[in-house]
Amino acid sequence: MDTTSFTKKTIGGVVQIEPALTPPPIQHTQTAFTVKPKLDSGKTKTKKRDIPEGLWTKCPSCGTMIFDKELDENLKVCSKCQHHFPIGSRERIHSLVETCTFEEMDAEMTSVDILKFASYKTKLERDRKATMLNDAVVTGICKIGTHRVALGVMDFGFMGGSMGAVVGEKLTRLIERGTEGGWPVVIISTSGGARMQEGVFSLMQMAKTSAALAYHAQSRLPYISILTNNSYGGVMASYAALGDLILAEPAAMIGFAGPRVIKDTTHAELPPGFQTAEFLVEHGLIDATVPRKEMKEQLVRYLDYFAGGKKG
Ligand SMILES: [Zn+2]
Repeated sequence: MDTTSFTKKTIGGVVQIEPALTPPPIQHTQTAFTVKPKLDSGKTKTKKRDIPEGLWTKCPSCGTMIFDKELDENLKVCSKCQHHFPIGSRERIHSLVETCTFEEMDAEMTSVDILKFASYKTKLERDRKATMLNDAVVTGICKIGTHRVALGVMDFGFMGGSMGAVVGEKLTRLIERGTEGGWPVVIISTSGGARMQEGVFSLMQMAKTSAALAYHAQSRLPYISILTNNSYGGVMASYAALGDLILAEPAAMIGFAGPRVIKDTTHAELPPGFQTAEFLVEHGLIDATVPRKEMKEQLVRYLDYFAGGKKG
């Protein structure tokens, strides 16, 4: 053992390394110094990176670069052109309800892959992680102004806000709780439609939620439906279109089938502004468009009106 380690030291180290290493590396580093200007270009790169990455968002409507913090403070609305960016359900709830009054219902309810649909479980898992939600709607009882309200808010970030059995069941329970408590129901929709991975079970939710709203209406309680960008399909063909009052965010796209499908089916030229909230106000499907920043104030006003001056 001792001899082998001794031979290694004498043979390998001193004789070979010394002459080989000392002179050439200096020359190499000198050549490296001549290439040093690269450092400058490196600096400018990092400067460029500092600006856009994660700090700024480009408005798709007017092209303005908006500071993310400013966008958050402005409820995700472009201060230049009033473009309404998508907003998560939690942020929206925070912008509407009185502090600490939101009591969430059925937060743990999760979808079952009943049809064993290809990659459905993986997609559910992916969106659960991305949104920190268990499905595409958050429901609960809260206070808006002085009014106790049963509030449901959909989230497009979870599988495009699609309605499966969980969305339908959570909303039905919310509406029924509203009926029992004698409270108004407010549902904020954003959805691509029924969730195809749950097939007919998704479609059944249309009838179920509509029936629950019918009982709610029988008790002479108000239901306000608020439509936000991309409200389509089975959601628009059920509870989203059944409001005593139907409001929408400006420029929101609302319909059953998308414009391309309609154009291909009817072979007709579609009128300008087709399926925008403004177009639908003109044609009587929607009662009013309300900018996001005014939504809370307007909601309180409408709830006051429905309550006939009664508070709570
Ligand atoms: Zn803009």
